[in-house]
Amino acid sequence: AERKRRVAAVIEEVERSLATPTALLRSIADAMVTEMERGLRGDIHAQLKMLISYVDNLPTGDEHGLFYALDLGGTNFRVLRVQLGGREKRVVKQQYEEVSIPPHLMVGTSMELFDFIAAALAKFVDTEGEDFHLPEGRQRELGFTFSFPVNQTSISSGTLIKWTKGFSINGAVGEDVVSELSRAMERQGLDMKVTALVNDTVGTLAGGRYNDNDVVAAVILGTGTNAAYVEHANAIPKWTGLLPKSGNMVSARTPYTWKTKVYATIVINTEWGSFKSDKLPLSEYDKIMDFESLNPGEQIYEKMISGMYLGEIVRRILLKLAHDASLFGDVVPPKLEQPFVLRTPDMSAMHHDSSHDLKILGSKLKDIVGIADTSLEVRYITRHICDLVAERGARLAAAGIYSILKKIGRDKVPNGESKMPRTVVALDGGLYEHYKKFSSCVEATLTDLLGEEASSSVVAKLANDGSGIGAALLAASHSQYA
Ligand code: ADP
Ligand code: MG
Repeated sequence: AERKRRVAAVIEEVERSLATPTALLRSIADAMVTEMERGLRGDIHAQLKMLISYVDNLPTGDEHGLFYALDLGGTNFRVLRVQLGGREKRVVKQQYEEVSIPPHLMVGTSMELFDFIAAALAKFVDTEGEDFHLPEGRQRELGFTFSFPVNQTSISSGTLIKWTKGFSINGAVGEDVVSELSRAMERQGLDMKVTALVNDTVGTLAGGRYNDNDVVAAVILGTGTNAAYVEHANAIPKWTGLLPKSGNMVSARTPYTWKTKVYATIVINTEWGSFKSDKLPLSEYDKIMDFESLNPGEQIYEKMISGMYLGEIVRRILLKLAHDASLFGDVVPPKLEQPFVLRTPDMSAMHHDSSHDLKILGSKLKDIVGIADTSLEVRYITRHICDLVAERGARLAAAGIYSILKKIGRDKVPNGESKMPRTVVALDGGLYEHYKKFSSCVEATLTDLLGEEASSSVVAKLANDGSGIGAALLAASHSQYA
């Protein structure tokens, strides 16, 4: 009974510290809008960098030819080739391969990392079949999706601002990632030109727009989290400074209609993962995880939401329950002490276990924590913790999406009009794609925040591997032969 009381006390404290009532989400969204505005003004202390992408036109559907894409941004990287057939034939053929990055390369030297990537790419190019056609005398072209914060200097160059998501490579910050990749490709004897460097959010936005003209924003919920959206040029005070050099960033082909005026638009990569606010429900588990992370004090919003961290937060709560309330018996399971042993896909499997005796959950606990024969009560408690952590992440993600819709005036029916324009948000990332309870909670919360009327015009759409195809499309529209 004493143990039960202690378990209940810890759970109650966890529930309290992870709570996200709708009113709180609204104030978080407001704070995020304020931070977006600061970023757009170029305030050096702004938390959201609001990076201006050099994508001067989103795909139109006319793109054609053979293009490659490479997506580096988390535990895996993907290589892809696509044969585009123009407006009529669209995507004629596409092939991709996924390669996991050996963990030691994520914290090694940038030369080793890029050599590994270029070697895998070269191997992939060798398997190019008859269905793909490169016109005589042309160089293969590549769209490079690089999902870390980059200060873009042109459509095909940019310097790394910082690593996130468990990457930590000395000497790469401040370097041009395209020249690093290009040099590595040369070392492999691979003749290929990077014609577009894009963030995964921008790639997803481009891929989403190719399939649906009403896509206004893209959100990644994978190992990390981030978002990009289409902003009015006149809402970006800091952009004027860049005008002479990159006046072509305006997308003339896809003007953005807002009320009766037509404004030029620009794709903004928010880098929202670095959002931080005292409104965020930051628990002791978050604080310690952050403190012990590779990037303490940074990416706070990302650490509450994304796939790299959710399982780890659950582990820390279970550990607390083991320590303070002997949840797993008199001894604390040693395996539970190990950071990151509980991965988000395992958390998801436990969370989705709907069998009457939570059998899957039980065997996961056995495999991961080393505790056989857990009681049904312990299993229920574990599932409840998964639920609390996933729900908080999903609701915070929905608040972020809501803040973008607010920023562009797509959160309510405009004054004097009867309906809001159809508004599509493209979503991608393994967390959103595979963690069903997470993605349904994102959608339900977004509907709740928008209200019935506005939410009937908003669609959240899974853009599966949108960033890969999007990068290939952007490589096409920025081709040296175009
Ligand atoms: P990345 O974000 O690294 O570019 P993905 O978009 O494929 O790559 O996302 C991979 C991440 O998605 C994993 O790190 C993991 O956190 C999460 N994920 C993958 N599968 C699942 C799953 N079944 N359940 C929950 N999360 C998952
Ligand atoms: Mg990705």
